[in-house]
This record gives sequence, structure tokens and C-alpha cells, in this order.
Amino acid sequence: MTRAWNFSAGPAALPEAVLRRAQSELLDWNGTGASVMELSHRGKDFMALAASAEARLRRLMAVPEGYTVLFLQGGATQHFAQIPMNLAGADASADYIVTGHWGEKAVREASPYLTARVAATSEDARYLALPARDTWQLDPRAAYLHYTPNETIHGVEFHDVPDAGDVPLVADMSSNILSRPVDVSRFGLIYAGAQKNIGPSGLVVMIIRDDLLAREGRPMAKIFRYAEHAANDSMLNTPNTWGWYLAGLTFEWLEDQGGLEAMGERNARKAATLYAAIDGSGGFYRSPVAVASRSRMNVPFTLHNSALDAAFLTESAAAGLLALKGHKAVGGMRASLYNAVPQYAVDVLVNFMRDFTARHG
Ligand SMILES: *Cc1c(COP(=O)(O)O)cnc(C)c1O
Repeated sequence: MTRAWNFSAGPAALPEAVLRRAQSELLDWNGTGASVMELSHRGKDFMALAASAEARLRRLMAVPEGYTVLFLQGGATQHFAQIPMNLAGADASADYIVTGHWGEKAVREASPYLTARVAATSEDARYLALPARDTWQLDPRAAYLHYTPNETIHGVEFHDVPDAGDVPLVADMSSNILSRPVDVSRFGLIYAGAQKNIGPSGLVVMIIRDDLLAREGRPMAKIFRYAEHAANDSMLNTPNTWGWYLAGLTFEWLEDQGGLEAMGERNARKAATLYAAIDGSGGFYRSPVAVASRSRMNVPFTLHNSALDAAFLTESAAAGLLALKGHKAVGGMRASLYNAVPQYAVDVLVNFMRDFTARHG
């Protein structure tokens, strides 16, 4: 069996150790004689798994008192709409910092529910740099301030947490959660679709401050209300039990790796390896993203001659390098370097890139 070096943007690589563990437990999980997918979420075995996954996430991220952790469904996209419903009444306004595709989509999905005000945008820079702080026009009365710490398609990342004053900060961390330590106390709400850095798609992890959980929001069905999910330990209806299980295994793996401090160092090194290869290629490869805004998780790059793109993709695939085709919004290539991608995979990629240059330069 050969596993490829997987640079997919999402759904993305999972740690091999997690997959092997899941494989070994697939037919008989925890001595139950059934797979975890075949058991009631209300049974004591699954309830213990659920609690342990939450406890591990709380430890990994050092989640302070006063925050609730939820395991939800719907993908990050559904929560683009559900967050405004929960955090604001009909006449409210919320601020959005738009730094790429996902921020744009968050605004669009929020707009039926409140005034989604673009307080800053880097659209003029084609989202290839973060907007300068002195251009931000924050409303101190906003219901919340939403931003995307890492824009998965454009490859731009905040390397610090913006100061939102007294306005609760809401972060779509889908593509960089758990990639380094963050100070959760700076945030009102953190949410992430699982399929980049946590587990399979179909699961959303949310960390929400209790005063936001208590907000009245709009009239809505129970199933949309975060407080209802919280009151039912994220089991208001049948949760994604398989996703929750795999997330728990990933959290355990992260603890074994030394936690987020260690992951942060590794991720910085992986990204530095790839950017150095791009910047040191004498113009053969180019990163379109402003240096200060470059993402450690998603690295778009172009070839000096786009006529070579097809050859690059064919030859890289033949060398066991998976999913390097870039998103059409940026063009060229994109390598995603999530937690589950080892340094060795990046070394293989960089060697391939040098080799390709030698053959086509
Ligand atoms: C992938 C992604 C999303 C969309 O997630 P879905 O689960 O498809 O809804 C949203 N935001 C960011 C930053 C992403 O990377």
C-alpha cells in the first residue's frame, strides 16, 4: 500500500496514526462488539468518548472557564448564517473583516439576518494581503466583529489577534484551528469546520463564551439555537458520532505530539521550507501573497510560465504528490500544510520542485 503525500485544501490529510487506530477499531470499538458508528449516542460508551474529546480539546486550547464547547453539524457555511441568528436581533449590525473568499461568503450568508457591515476589506489587493489596520472602520456598537484568521483559498493569515475592543470577536478558524497556541480569552466565539485540521467533514467545533450563548438572538427553531445545543451537550439530535470519534483521536494525537506549542513550531518550519524554495527559485516559482500576510497552512504559488502547469500537475501526481492544483481564484498551485502533513512531505515536495525546475527551466 502506498499513501500519497497529500496537500489537499480540504477535506484534507488526517494523521496516519489516527487512520490506523480507526481502522483497527472499526469492527469492534472499545470492546463493544460494534463499530463506533453503530452505537447509540446516548449509550455510556459514546457519552464517555464525547466527554473525553471535549476535555482534550479544552486542554489543548487551554479554554478558560466561561466558555462552552459544542460539536455541531452543517459545515462552517451553515454557521455563517446561524451565528448572526444567535448573536443579534433583527435591527442589529455586525462588522466583518473580509480578507478572502470565505469572509465574502460569511457576509453574504449573514446578510438576510442583520446588517453585515464590511469594516475592512482587502478586495482591492485581490485578497493577497491583509488590509492595513489604519483602514479598518470598526463600529463600537457592532453586535460582533467577524474575521477569518486564515483564508484557505487566498493563502493569507493573521499572525496576531485583532483588537476588537469591547465588541465580541468571532473567528472562522476552519483552516488554522489547532495549528498553534491561541489565547481563547480574546475571542467571543471560535468555530471551525473539521475537515481541514480536525477530522472528517460534517462536523463543526465551536467554542462560545457564555454571555454570547445567553443572547436572545432572533426567533428561530430550536435546532438552530446554540443555547439549546449547549443545554443538551451537543446531542439535541443525533450528532456526527463518527466525526466526533475521529476528532477525539486527532486531539489525542496532538497531545502525543506535544500539544499546540510543538505543532506551532513544526508548522512554522514546514511553511518556511516551502516559502524558501519558492523565493529561492530565481523566479521559476512565485508566491503572490504579501510576505507579512502569508499563511502557514495554505501556500499558493504560481509557475513563471503557466504553460508548465499541466506538466507540473502530471509529474507531481506521478511522484505521489496529491492535490497541488490551485484554486481558480488565485491560479497556479496550492500546497496545504495542515497539522497532519509531516515535514518530510514538504521536503519531498520541495525536492520535486527543484527537480522540475532543472528539467523545465
Ligand atoms: C473550508 C472552509 C469553509 C467552508 O466549510 P464547509 O464545511 O464547506 O461549510 C469556511 N471557512 C473556511 C476558512 C474554510 O477553510
